Amino acid sequence: HFDIAIVGAGHAGAQAAIQLRQLGFSGSIGLIGDEPELPYERPPLSKEYLAGEKAFERMLIRPETFWAEREVALIAATRIDSLDPVARRLRSSAGDVFSYGELIWAAGGTPRRLGCAGGDLDGVHVVRRRSEVDAIRTGLDGVERVAIVGGGYVGLETAAVLRKAGKQVVLIEALERLLARVAGPDISAFYAAEHRAQGVEVRLGSAVERVEGAGGRVTGLALQSGGTIAADMVIVGIGIDAAVAPLLGAGAAGANGVDVDSFCRTSLPHVYAIGDCAAHENLFAGGLRIRLESVQNAHDQAATAARAIIGRPEPYAAIPWFWSNQYDLKLQTVGLSLGYDATIVRGDPATRSFSLVYLLEGRVIALDCVNATRDYVQGRKLVLDRAMVDPARLADTAVPLKEMDG
Ligand code: FAD
Repeated sequence: HFDIAIVGAGHAGAQAAIQLRQLGFSGSIGLIGDEPELPYERPPLSKEYLAGEKAFERMLIRPETFWAEREVALIAATRIDSLDPVARRLRSSAGDVFSYGELIWAAGGTPRRLGCAGGDLDGVHVVRRRSEVDAIRTGLDGVERVAIVGGGYVGLETAAVLRKAGKQVVLIEALERLLARVAGPDISAFYAAEHRAQGVEVRLGSAVERVEGAGGRVTGLALQSGGTIAADMVIVGIGIDAAVAPLLGAGAAGANGVDVDSFCRTSLPHVYAIGDCAAHENLFAGGLRIRLESVQNAHDQAATAARAIIGRPEPYAAIPWFWSNQYDLKLQTVGLSLGYDATIVRGDPATRSFSLVYLLEGRVIALDCVNATRDYVQGRKLVLDRAMVDPARLADTAVPLKEMDG
């Protein structure tokens, strides 16, 4: 039995345990996760870890001693399959049963695979867990041509690392531009040009028909357009499905993720959900119910749930931020561009340092800053204030954003 059981020992789950102790919670905490490792940071998986530039030990969220000292019971390599919300019991795939007082569900998401023929051939990979990235790294020896499916952040970061490692890289995106779900066309065009300049073959508007193989191993991709791409390895970065089946199976409201209120409470009593799997109404998305896949959201929702559980509730209202590293480009975003109706380019993309400012009804709702940390830092207040700023001033890099208070 745990006073608080946390399912999922990733960013959100680990942070929830850390927060609970920091807030003075002294009851028992069990952190149950299906990966074998201590809780670790995921962002380096498609960056420095894939590149072999960062040791795994440096990605641990906390050293092993931390968890022992804080009396957080780590239950690794244990997958929770079902939940009985009345008896307040969890059951693992191995048949272990855990009872809880309060449950925090922080199971993240499962990477989508290609549903087409050949999608499970040897040499077809996803990038979500350490074990998957280790498999890529091991498999890279002797690989010359890599096809990456998906032009989101994970696909692009992976492309940058493999290109730098000297591989021939083809990146296939089904939509007509990169990062279509998360960024404006100026950012998409900039990154497409950048990857092409680095030697990545970027194919937009290309959908995979099937994965081709020989002897059980991938040899390439057949495209719906009829063409084919030869590849010794395929890496699929086409998003995740929220890992919430046990919750929905127990009757929790939700569909794409599990629905939570502003205190991260699900519709089931004593059950909270946080991180990538939690569909919440986000103030910075105009109150729309969304899932946010970011370290920021995982951390801040962990704090929200911890506070609610110990009786010091504060509704979730954190400003979203995110980053992505590709080559020598550091992208930093603040706010959510969802629903924008105009954009302003601030600075010249040709200098490889600029920002894209997103407006809705004349108000600043988000910024994507490429090698422009000053804009990122100073733009935060404009987003918080939903500032209404003269577009000509926003575009003028001679005027610092901190001097524009709307
Ligand atoms: P996770 O960190 O995925 O943790 C969930 C854990 O629960 C996993 O260990 C999972 O295996 C486990 N689990 C799932 N189901 C069960 C079950 N039934 N029983 C037990 N355990 C279970 N965000 C940024 O802000 N910046 C970045 O640069 C960035 N880069 C990224 C690069 C990559 C390659 C990836 C994959 C993600 C990146 N992200 C980045 C996103 C960020 O890592 C996630 O938003 C964050 O990890 C979400 O935390 P979480 O705890 O909700 O989920």
